[in-house]
Parts: sequence; structure tokens; C-alpha cells
Amino acid sequence: MYIDFSVNYAKVLSLLYTKRDMSCLFCKIVDGSIPSTAVYQDEQCYAFADIHPQAPVHILIAPREHIASLADGSEDDSALLGHLLWVAVQIARAKSLANGYRVVINTGEDGGQTVDHLHVHLLGGRSLTWPPG
Ligand code: AMP
Ligand code: ZN
Repeated sequence: MYIDFSVNYAKVLSLLYTKRDMSCLFCKIVDGSIPSTAVYQDEQCYAFADIHPQAPVHILIAPREHIASLADGSEDDSALLGHLLWVAVQIARAKSLANGYRVVINTGEDGGQTVDHLHVHLLGGRSLTWPPG
């Protein structure tokens, strides 16, 4: 009997062993060695609940491979970067954020990035103010 898993585990494992930073918090969350509340996952990314939510819905979407920040992305990462946004859209639909939401990528020191593994914040479920601090 053939079972079609939606996640290609061989590819996931090869990514884990080739592009992982052993000292990185989100690499450990992605590989499951630090617990998190999973929201979505596929071959390229893992989405989980933010531990200090800033809105009723606050989800982080991180690539499985270690990319330190958006500023460290290369042209080879362009499809992956688009995929992270598409995943944000899908999660927002699944969470019924029909009234709107915000997608944020804090980048570098001035951008307020505190975890050096690229991640997309998806925030929603309340009216969000602008500009940010
Ligand atoms: P940033 O400041 O953009 O780098 O975002 C890092 C985010 O990671 C913050 O919103 C933190 O609340 C969140 N965070 C830190 N540690 C954890 C963790 N162990 N599990 C889930 N979210 C975390
Ligand atoms: Zn990492």
C-alpha cells in the first residue's frame, strides 16, 4: 500500500542536517528539541504560536533552514521568501482573520529583531495601530 505523506520527510531531514545552526533557538524549535505549539508545517517552513503574543493571533512562520535574517537572504531564497508569505495568507484564512491582519519581518538591530533566525510574524484578531514604535 502506498501512503502519500504531504511532508517529504527525507527532504526535511536533509535540510535539518545541512542548514541548521545548533546554537539557534528557532532551529531547535523547528527540529522539535525545544517545544512549541505547532500551527502549520510543510517541507520548507514551520509555523508556531509566539510565546509572548502581542495580539489574539500571533504566529511565527520560520523557514526550516537557518537564514539569520531577511537581510541574509539570497536570490536563491526568493521562492522560499514568497512561500513564507503565502503560508501567512493561508494561516490568516484558516484563522478567519477576514477583518485584516499584519505581517511583519523585524530585520536586524534597528528592525527590532531579537531572534537571529528569519521569521514572519502574523498578527491579528484586534485592531493594530500604526506607526510602530
Ligand atoms: P523578533 O523580535 O522579531 O526577532 O521576534 C522574536 C519573537 O520570538 C518574539 O515575538 C518572541 O516572543 C518569540 N519567541 C521567543 N522565544 C520563543 C519561544 N521559545 N517560542 C515561541 N516564540 C518565542
Ligand atoms: Zn536557526
